[in-house]
Amino acid sequence: MNQHMRPEPIPFIDIATQRRRIGKAIDEAVARVLDHCQFINGPEVTALEKALAEYSGARHVVTCASGTDALLMVLMAKNVGPGDAVLCPSFTFCATGEAVALAGATPVFVDVEEATFNIDVNSLKRGIATAKARGLKPVGVIPVDLFGQSADHDAVAAVAKAEGLFVLDDAAQGFGASFKGRKLGTFGLATATSFFPAKPLGCFGDGGAIFTDDDELANTLRSIRVHGQGSDKYDNVRLGLTGRLDTMQAAVLIEKLKIFDDEIAARNVVAERYARGLGNIVTVPRLAAGCTSVWAQYTIRLPEGTDRDAFAAALKAQGIPTAIYYTRSIHQQTAYRDFPVADGGLPVSERLSEDVISLPMHAYLDEAAQQRVIEAVRGALQA
Ligand SMILES: *Cc1c(COP(=O)(O)O)cnc(C)c1O
Repeated sequence: MNQHMRPEPIPFIDIATQRRRIGKAIDEAVARVLDHCQFINGPEVTALEKALAEYSGARHVVTCASGTDALLMVLMAKNVGPGDAVLCPSFTFCATGEAVALAGATPVFVDVEEATFNIDVNSLKRGIATAKARGLKPVGVIPVDLFGQSADHDAVAAVAKAEGLFVLDDAAQGFGASFKGRKLGTFGLATATSFFPAKPLGCFGDGGAIFTDDDELANTLRSIRVHGQGSDKYDNVRLGLTGRLDTMQAAVLIEKLKIFDDEIAARNVVAERYARGLGNIVTVPRLAAGCTSVWAQYTIRLPEGTDRDAFAAALKAQGIPTAIYYTRSIHQQTAYRDFPVADGGLPVSERLSEDVISLPMHAYLDEAAQQRVIEAVRGALQA
């Protein structure tokens, strides 16, 4: 490449190429909604829920307004509140812990495994003991399928069963991935996901969904979604939310779901190319046995002593964006400082926050552009 030319910037995620691929189908789907005008609870919402149930294997799918609402609605349905503890990893997006606090309960933060970035069940056990020692009643656990890789749902289920906890899987980043051949959406009591545009399956605004096999929970969630409605929406039998997914977003998602598996396969090709190109110079993410990933993020760990800001600046100068998920774990954030952490602290979460960095990752990252990223990473580290 000509050294004097400013290289074309590479997008961190590429929504534009996908738009060129299925834009016409989406425009037509949205036009149908504009014609029938059922913007709330239109037929596309029901059709999407049916398609998502078939895709995941879950018995019920309740779409909702966001991934955060998906988590919160399950906690509300379980009557989680003051005095209850819900355990969750700290190395995740804040919404995982936020939903617990919004429900009035206490999030108790636990550590993650260094190799997978997912919940460490030994720390989970310590967290349960910590909660009890503080006079809290542990009622649930929220494992996260971070960066797109499924957590070890067998290990989580074993601890949850022994302690009588419900499992609410936060698959906001991992929907589409599987554990031991079973799709996320079918583990634990319920699974929450997000359709925020940057997630692997994203809409053109905010959206989310809850997956469950539990008939009673599904009914309660459908009530909570519309202000706790009973026999009709002016019969309010419990507290609820304006928690619906709008019809337009459902119409978009129906079209996107049709190419989702193809996009997941493409993301896996990108991940394999990164692993081959960078595996001997940085710590690349590894899939644990039985786990697949939809690669919501491709997150590497820089060698000890690397100046992460300088590394990011070197890539940026070459038109390559990076992002840091997460510069601070939740327990290190101002709003969450006073909530308990598992005994022994969360050393892995704190270490990861210091050395992770995420590279461009999307289904349309072609080999030439990716080679530029790989060379820039190698160049920045060898400089
Ligand atoms: C994005 C995300 C959420 C929240 O989803 P929203 O749709 O943005 O509310 C929750 N948990 C995790 C792990 C996420 O990445």
